[in-house]
Order: sequence, then C-alpha cells, then structure tokens
Amino acid sequence: MKKATEKYWGDKVNPCKSSVNKDAKDKFYILSMFPYPSGALHMGHVRVYTISDTVARFYRLKGKNVIHPMGWDAFGLPAENAAIERQINPAIWTTENIETMRNQLKMLNYSFDWDREFATCDPDYYKWTQELFLKLFDKGLAYQKEAYVNWDPVDQTVLAEEQIDVNQRSWRSGALVEKKLLKQWFIRTTAFAKSLLEGLNDPTLKEWKDILKLQKHWIGDCNGINIDFKLVSEIPEFPRTLNIWIDTPEFVEYAKFVAISFQSILNRKEHTYEIDVGIKGLNAKIINPFSGEELPVFITDKVVYPPWRDVRLGIPSASMDDFKFSELVGISFTRHSIRSYEQQQQKLSEVFQKAREWGIGGYPVSSKLQDWLISRQRYWGTPIPIIHCTNCGTQPVPRNQLPVILPKMTNSSSNKRFSIQDMKDWLQTKCPKCEGNATREADTMDTFVDSSWYFLRFIDPKNTKEMFSVEKVKEMFPVDLYIGGKEHAVLHLYFARFMSHFLHSEGLLPCREPFKQLLVQGVVMGKTYQVISTGKYILEDEALKEGDQYKTKSGELVSMRWEKMSKSKLNGVDPLNLLNKYGIDTTRLLILADVAPTSTRNWSENTVTGINNWQNRLWTVVKRFKTERDKISLEELESKPTNPKYAEQDAYMFDSRNYFLKNVTFNIVESQQLSVAISRLQGLTNSLRKVDLECLRKSREFERALAVQIIMLAPFAPHFASELWTTFCSAKYHLIDNTEVDLNKTIFEQKWPDIDMDYNLVMNVYVNKRAFLKMKIPRRELNKMAADTALEYVVLHPYYQKYSYNKYVVDVNFKAEKSCDASLYITMEKQKED
Ligand SMILES: [Zn+2]
Repeated sequence: MKKATEKYWGDKVNPCKSSVNKDAKDKFYILSMFPYPSGALHMGHVRVYTISDTVARFYRLKGKNVIHPMGWDAFGLPAENAAIERQINPAIWTTENIETMRNQLKMLNYSFDWDREFATCDPDYYKWTQELFLKLFDKGLAYQKEAYVNWDPVDQTVLAEEQIDVNQRSWRSGALVEKKLLKQWFIRTTAFAKSLLEGLNDPTLKEWKDILKLQKHWIGDCNGINIDFKLVSEIPEFPRTLNIWIDTPEFVEYAKFVAISFQSILNRKEHTYEIDVGIKGLNAKIINPFSGEELPVFITDKVVYPPWRDVRLGIPSASMDDFKFSELVGISFTRHSIRSYEQQQQKLSEVFQKAREWGIGGYPVSSKLQDWLISRQRYWGTPIPIIHCTNCGTQPVPRNQLPVILPKMTNSSSNKRFSIQDMKDWLQTKCPKCEGNATREADTMDTFVDSSWYFLRFIDPKNTKEMFSVEKVKEMFPVDLYIGGKEHAVLHLYFARFMSHFLHSEGLLPCREPFKQLLVQGVVMGKTYQVISTGKYILEDEALKEGDQYKTKSGELVSMRWEKMSKSKLNGVDPLNLLNKYGIDTTRLLILADVAPTSTRNWSENTVTGINNWQNRLWTVVKRFKTERDKISLEELESKPTNPKYAEQDAYMFDSRNYFLKNVTFNIVESQQLSVAISRLQGLTNSLRKVDLECLRKSREFERALAVQIIMLAPFAPHFASELWTTFCSAKYHLIDNTEVDLNKTIFEQKWPDIDMDYNLVMNVYVNKRAFLKMKIPRRELNKMAADTALEYVVLHPYYQKYSYNKYVVDVNFKAEKSCDASLYITMEKQKED
C-alpha cells in the first residue's frame, strides 16, 4: 500500500519549481555538501539529504524561491586508485558511480534541482576552476615555490599524507617514504587571514556554534607576518627559499641571523660546522632583502622558536634573547630602536608594501597558518593552466584556450600509477608569448580547490561565458543554510570562505561570507561486533547474546560498541534495504525522529513501530473525517451543536492548531530540531483524536487543525501527506476558508499556515537577565509591539508594580519574530536614597 502510494505520488511531489515560485521575491538557498561519488549511498548521506530536503520543502511552502542543488565532488584519489586496480579509466569509474548514486537519490525522491547538476570533473566545470586559478595568479595569489613532498622511491610517485602508514611507509609499495624537494603551486591564503578571522564576527552568521572556535583556532591570532627569504647554499637538494614568521616586522631590516632547530629538515649534518656547545653553523646564507645583508644560519635549540615553527629570524634590536645569542656567537651589531607609535606604523606599512610588491609575503598572519599547497602530482584532478617556457618563464594559459583538458588515459599506460609526466604529446605545447616550444604544467589541483567555489556555480551552472553571472549571484548569494558533516568544518569551510573573500575583493560577490546558517549533522553509528581474541569484525547476526555477553557460534568472546558506520567494520546499514522494507516516507521519519539532526545517532529500527502507529492513527483520523463529512447532510452540518462539551472542544482545536503550528515552525526555522518538530506533529495528532464525534463532524476549528496537520507533515513525509491531503480535500463538505487553503490544488501548492491573530502568544519578560513573567498577548497586539509599548503592557501587571517599587528602568530590549513568542529584556536599578 505504501509503495503504491509512493509510486503514484513520485513525480507529483516534486513539481517543476520554475513554474511554482517563479514570482517569489524571497530566496532561500539550501545546500547539503555534495557527495564524493564512491559508488553507493550510505546512511550518512540519507541523513543529510533527508534533512536538507525537509527544510527545502518547508521553505517552498513558506513561499520562498528555494534553490536546492545537487552535484558531485568527482575528482580525487579514490577514483584513481580504483581505476588502477581495475585497469579502467578513472573517468569511466566515476561516471558509473555517479549514475548509480543519482539513481539511488532518485529512488529516495529528494526534491533536488537536477537541472543544476554537475560534476567537478566535467570540463564545463573545471574550465572555471582554472579561470579561478588564473584570477588568483593575476593577483599574485597563486605562486610556485619549492617544498618538500612525500616521495615513494619504489613507485616513483608523490604520496598524500593519508597514504603513509604510522611507520612512514607507502601504503602501496611498502617503501620507506622520503622527503623530496619539488616545485609546488601554492595559493596565498595567508593574504586573507585577517579578513577570514574578522569575518567570523559577522553578525549574520547563525548557528555556527563551535565551528567558529574551530575556524578561529585554525587561523590563529594574526600577530606577525610571513616572509619568503632567499636561501643561498651549495648543499644538494636544498631549497632556495625559507619561509620565516616574524612577530616584529618593523625591525626586519635589523635582522642579524637565522636559527633553525636540530629537528628541522634543513639540518644537514654533513654541511655543518661546530661553533659552541649546542650551536652549529650551516653552510648556507639567508639574504635579507630589506637590508641587502647576508645572514648566517645556525642550528641550535638555544633560542625560542615561534609556535609551530622551527625557524627564527634573529633580531637583536627587537629581542633580548636574540641580543644574548648574538653576543654568544660573536655577531656584531648596532642597536636600533623605534621611538614612537607613528614611526612603528610607518615602518610596518613600508615592510608590508615592499614584501607584497616583491611577492614574498607581508600579510598579517599567525605563526601556524601556512599558504595552501595545491599541487598534486596526480592524474585525476583539474590541470593547472600554466605553460613553462625556457625563454619567458611561467606563463598563464590564455583564457581562450581554457579549459586545459586532462589527457585521455589509455589502458596500456596504467600499470602502477597514472602520471601526466608520461603523456609527452600532451605536455608539449607552444609558449603563448614567444610561440617557441614549451611544456605544460603536469600538476593537477588539490580537490579542495574544486569544492571551494561549487556553491557559486550552482547559482548559474550553464553559464558558458563566465564562472557565474554577477547579477544572478547578487540575487541568490549567500547560501542560507549549509548542511554537512563536521569532518569538513575546518579545511573545506576555510578554503570556501577564502575563495569567497577573494572573489568579493574582486567585486564579484555581494558579501564576503558564503554561508549564513550552518547545520553540522551528527554521525550515524552502527553496532560493531569484534572477536576479542582475533580482532576480526563480524556481522550482527554472527554475534550470539549470552546473558550480558556476546559470543561467536564457536564460543569466542565478542565485544560490542557503537561506532561510525563503515564498510570495513561491517556495522553499516544499507539504506536501500530500509527503503525496500519501509518505503520512502517511513525511512525519512525514522531517520529524522527522536534524535536532533546535530546529534550522533545510534542507528536502530526499534522506533519503526512508533512511527508506523502514528502514521496509522493519522490515516484513521483523516479517513474518519472524510467518511463523516460524506455522510452528513448540509442541514445537519449547519445545525446547532448538541454536545455540551462542543464549545470547549472547538476552542481546544483552535488552541491546538496554533500551539503546534507555532512549535513546529520554530523547531524548523530557529532551533533546527526536526526531531522535536516531529514529536509536536504527533502531539497534534493526539489532540485531533481527543475530541468527540460531533466536533470531528461539524467543527470548523477541527477541520482547520486537520489541514494544518497534513500541510505541516508534507515536508517530512511528502508522499503520505499528499495522499492524506487528497482524501481530506475529497470530502463532500468543507468549512475551511478558501483563503487558507486551496482544496483544488496539491499539498505542495498550499501555503505554510499562519498563526491566528486572536491566538495568545507568549511574551517572556526578563528583569536583569532573570526570567520574571510570562504574559499572554494576542498575536494581533504582539505584532505591533516595540520596546516601549511592550513595557507599557508589563507596567500594568500587579506583580511588576510590586517589584518595581523604588527601582527605575535603565534599558529595555524587545525581541520578536513574526508569529513567534517574544521576549522583553528589562534592566533595572535601585533608586538612590536621598
Ligand atoms: Zn616563451
């Protein structure tokens, strides 16, 4: 029965939105983090998309112009590795996975804007990722510099951190990983560190909670600057620049030495000489561009290094420690001082300006924050649009040659690895400047670059002329609600915020911060069973319960604990099984009910009985309503009630409608507690079942409450609610006003209901931050109130009159959302006695 209903309503619950809210003025951009096309949906996906779909449907009913897009974060290592194992092109593997997962999402019938769909590996998308890179390059914010990478000497390839085990060995070849110096591309994220830190105080950010702390912690206090100094030496495989963080940049021209710690990768024992106990000299020099001086480099632990750093610039004029160390190693210097605040500011701005001009840093930043290394010596990523010419140096690919398309991988080239370095034909090109022979950049970009701006492309996904239309973005940006997992709360959010701040500085975005409200959804946990003696994971049905212990069939002890669902731990639940067993709507209600979206969810199907019972009860009420209204005659419907409790029950329905409407709305919009909203919906069902038959048959308030019940259910259980709505509408007689609902239209063409003007909302009164009074005030009056009129209302209350004797009001604050309870904050002080 459920399946038939869901099949029938399948297309109808997702009306083509362009025909629905075309005229809506208010936009609402709701975005759930787009998935990596791993091949199958898991419960975490089902949780996040059910949340976003419910909220999207809610805002559509609220009359907003909702955008709710879906796409694929499709570049990255897993595809490349899977492709190597299976000897197929990563593009094929990815496309197949996207198809499978898209079908699964469609089986769940989420109301995504499929016409906005794209994958980051589509050339139509990465063309603009390359454009974004060139925009940064044009501003000196994308640059190349040598850096150490993890190198697998057997496979001859660079490894990502997660491919190295705890013993520093490659996951694939088992070889001991080496550090290798390679020229790498960086994005100068530190140039916006201060802006990104300050942006976190933006008052429009809502529900960021502990993510604010994580972001602040990641960026750190911007109390110094980074400078790339030239490093001169004859040591083989040695970098030619050294990045040093300085907390007294106004003194940088008086620097006299550089110290590095013994743990530093630059400590090359065979190139050092003894100076003193615990101090060695290194056969290298640092050039200080601010003075033109060559500075000696020492290896020592006798100076204090800035947090997270093993390099220190020694400035005896600025630091007593550096002063002492200089004397210890016999460096002569003159002491310089800065005499005034004005002089200090002048010096600072000179240093900042010069460093930026030379492209070596000069932005306020913490000692821990580094620029973003985006080079990947990998195949499956966005090619970096750069050409290297021996005559002209590094040249950007001309805009009219974008996209630089990834070369096609042939099966013969796929043995141990894919590498663009092997694609000689593709690498060979002409220099755009001198037209001589030149080479393409072989590195691809970190996939975090692809996902750092996708929310902008969703606004204008088909644009062939630019990344996005500034006009369209002005209408739709920022994202109003961003939903995703905590694992992306640091890096992804930071990079996405960086791109927003950058594009805003280019005049392309209306504001800096990309995400207004966040909802960080909790993890779905499964029961993990593990054989204690062997550590082997087993399936739930292989673990037999004996008393309060679990054992295997052969009697071995088994441990049970809740852990994040994962394939390797055999503790996952396949969402498609749930879908088969319960249908779409019950699966939705199961995953949304009982636990707040932000909390960890220990997965269990025990609650399904409760959900089913509720659905049955509601179905019974609606059916009964229809049967009775079909049976009743017009005369009887209009006759005076005979039940002495009728008036009371009628008023109870009025109250219930408003009370539950207020609460469900609040829990979707304000508190993000969809689970509480569901329990309020169940509360309304209970109210509807409490009244006598006559009320059900004849009360207009009962009918209104029933209509509200069904409409409020629609975002949570769209198919079921559609079926209830049709039944409700098909009754022979209705008393409900046609300004409230349109009985000829589907449920998704209705308006989210409104609180009645005569209903008493609550004004919570606080005095000196303490709860003082709760006053019931009809919505009609509360809507008109401001701080002064609200206070006039409170002043009349006898309790206030008694309390306020000998006190006077210092300050009043009034907070009210339309059709919600209000709060009045009063600050009072005692009258001074004469
Ligand atoms: Zn050239």
